[in-house]
Amino acid sequence: MKREFAVIGLGRFGGSVCRELSREGMEVLAIDTTESKVNEFRNIASHAVIADATDEKVLKELGIRNIDHVIVAIGEDIQASILTTLMLKELGIKKITVKAQNDYHEKVLIKIGADQVIHPERDMGKKIAHSIISSNILDHLELSDDHSIVEIKASNKIVGRTLVDLDIRANYGCNVVAIKSGESKEINVSPMATERILDGDTLVIIGADKDISRFEKQLV
Ligand code: ATP
Ligand code: ATP
Ligand code: CA
Repeated sequence: MKREFAVIGLGRFGGSVCRELSREGMEVLAIDTTESKVNEFRNIASHAVIADATDEKVLKELGIRNIDHVIVAIGEDIQASILTTLMLKELGIKKITVKAQNDYHEKVLIKIGADQVIHPERDMGKKIAHSIISSNILDHLELSDDHSIVEIKASNKIVGRTLVDLDIRANYGCNVVAIKSGESKEINVSPMATERILDGDTLVIIGADKDISRFEKQLV
């Protein structure tokens, strides 16, 4: 089933979202004020149009109301991003995802009702920082200000042991939600307490940041 998306702003971020949605077979309306950007997406998106998204009349003419999910990826021009989001909201778009430029921008976007605010540079920066601090942290997904999901490469302190003998839940307050094994990264999404952790395994752990951090310090 094809779903309808619109991507407003075809910079590196919006362009990448548009490309990937299209590659996955989704219907995408691509919008940018710059002709060269729009031309770049003519053969990629279902429709690519030169338009200024801050113009309400233009948004209506494009039939944006019929689109389920709009991604606002206008970068530098924070004012245009906020105004566009506000109008999309007023037009009753069901789901609006907006790229924020900074924390103030993010606050305003949430206030005016953006359903999802993303901050790719900041979030990727955090991920990279975590993986730099510990080369065993393979991935880091922030769930809230103080909870995360991390992927941790099994260290030699863990290999050969089981969840029950490490007593992870009791000792660290974290849950191992999955174990990925071997080269193929075959994934076991409900590991048994008696499951033995093998060399090359990756643990996917959910918990409070302070608990995960304790786990990392002692077992990674
Ligand atoms: P990235 O970092 O993802 O490359 P950016 O955050 O630096 O992008 P910009 O290059 O500032 O973002 O803007 C992204 C795109 O948004 C640009 O291609 C720009 O032409 C487009 N854009 C800016 N204002 C509007 C607008 N009012 N309506 C539609 N598109 C717009
Ligand atoms: P609990 O008494 O903590 O509810 P349980 O009765 O479910 O545990 P088991 O499932 O046998 O007992 O697990 C025993 C212990 O093994 C748990 O207390 C926990 O410390 C650890 N453990 C088991 N599964 C996990 C998991 N997925 N993540 C983290 N720790 C686990
Ligand atoms: Ca940028």
